[in-house]
Amino acid sequence: MPGTFTHKFDTPVYKGTVNVSTGLFINNKFVDGSDTTTIDVLNPTTGKLITTISEATAKDVDIAVKAAQEAYDTTWGLNTSGAERGDLLNKLATIMDGARDELAALEAMDNGKTFSWAKNVDVDFAIQVVKYYAGWADKIHGQTLETDEKKLTYTRHEPIGVVGYREFPSYELQILSDTSLSMHPVMMFVWKIAPALATGNTVVLKPSEFTPLTALRMCSIIQEAGIPPGVVNVVTGYGNTVGAAISSHMDILKIAFTGSTIVGRKIMEAAAKSNLKPVTLELGGKNPNIIYNDADLDNAVEWASFGIYWNHGAACCAGSRIFVQSGIYDKFLEKFTEKSKAIRIGNPFGENIDQGPMSSEAQFNRIMSYIESGKTDGATVHTGGNRRGSEGYFIEPTIFTNVKADMKIVKEEIFGPVSVVVKFEDEDDVVRQANDTFYGLAAGVFSQDIDRAIRTAHRIQAGTVWVNCYNHFKPQVPFGGYRQSGIGRELGSYALENYTAVKAVHINLGQRLS
Ligand code: NAD
Repeated sequence: MPGTFTHKFDTPVYKGTVNVSTGLFINNKFVDGSDTTTIDVLNPTTGKLITTISEATAKDVDIAVKAAQEAYDTTWGLNTSGAERGDLLNKLATIMDGARDELAALEAMDNGKTFSWAKNVDVDFAIQVVKYYAGWADKIHGQTLETDEKKLTYTRHEPIGVVGYREFPSYELQILSDTSLSMHPVMMFVWKIAPALATGNTVVLKPSEFTPLTALRMCSIIQEAGIPPGVVNVVTGYGNTVGAAISSHMDILKIAFTGSTIVGRKIMEAAAKSNLKPVTLELGGKNPNIIYNDADLDNAVEWASFGIYWNHGAACCAGSRIFVQSGIYDKFLEKFTEKSKAIRIGNPFGENIDQGPMSSEAQFNRIMSYIESGKTDGATVHTGGNRRGSEGYFIEPTIFTNVKADMKIVKEEIFGPVSVVVKFEDEDDVVRQANDTFYGLAAGVFSQDIDRAIRTAHRIQAGTVWVNCYNHFKPQVPFGGYRQSGIGRELGSYALENYTAVKAVHINLGQRLS
């Protein structure tokens, strides 16, 4: 029997007790892995152990896949109506709503983001997304196609791999990643499962080995909501074992992944080499944020700061390359520096804290090595550049200036509170520099000239462009990357396409061949 992790929080911002089962979640039960090995879950604020969880193996992935298939064939998929699935998703949202504080406390402890941010942004947005897809569940339909009077033709948007292919397993597999580097564990969990369940798929999901606790708490919420056994299965484990077993599994018919571009490439290769399962990938970014001379300067400083420091800069969409037109460059830099220095770093459960630790030692070391490379390459550390304190993984908000286009800190995703501020002269110059990247996830444009702002938004090669704002997400609006930032879109009605297969049905209305 797997254990339960119990923690009593007695902090300035949250008092309460949280329980989390530490086993794998298969068929709505917490179970031990087939091996007895475990994974240590560490607290990034102290570097100390929080708890240990079961480590799954490829054998456990097989068991989870069988459970998902059984659920698909008996209680989910074409055996439920969209309205029933929508009701269950609404119940899930209601229970999550009641567990806001608990989910936020776990997220802050495990991931390092502040409790208030976890509660008011991550958990809140996760609930919005579940409700949004609950609304879609009974509105998934195809088209009636006019051909000729002797024929009735229509399409159905079915869960992936179903009717007529019953000999094939019919479930959806997801690897949920991110999070290993201080991302949005609970939010990503929901971005994956909500559209998949709304459209009738069943799921096997691997959370990050670094931040698995909210995924495990969500499993109890799934039980409580009455979602049938086997519809969502969670296997906690490492990427090169469990992740690899999932991406190369012959019986999994689709995979969705959030994580780095390097691992995304491995997943796509494994999918291609196994059963050619379709892949959606939400990968990294090195996102330009463009500020023209005519921008509302104070507003641009606020949003640029939010753009890079949101979630400690550990965000795929972080506005980490800030391009400022020469007329306001000095003024912008002065105000942006003030703002960066004013960020209050500390324990995620402290009062009035803006930034906690990075989510793991590995990520901390990675960011610090980027800062070192910037210094070695000759860039100027305008502010920050150091570790804060000697315990936990805290890093000062850092701004580099005097950078060159070929420096690592300009080209590569750092995934931390580190930006480069670059001067530009005119629109053509900044569009060229902004597009000089193999990524294409997000961008920002600040200008009070609406023609220029829209023209620039259209010329930037990115899946999302925010004009006079940044990091402004809505459940209705698709999110995803151009180029090596990914394949496919999450959120909005666009995500539904990832989770349905289109079937054309031709009905002969009396036409004979002879
Ligand atoms: P990561 O790629 O290091 O790890 C992601 C997941 O992949 C983990 O669960 C890991 O266990 C698993 N994994 C590792 N090797 C694997 C393999 N061989 N096969 C299958 N799975 C394997 O990423 P991370 O550090 O957790 O997250 C940070 C990255 O995620 C950043 O690059 C960030 O930009 C990106 N991200 C993108 C989005 C988006 O929506 N585009 C959102 C969040 C994060």
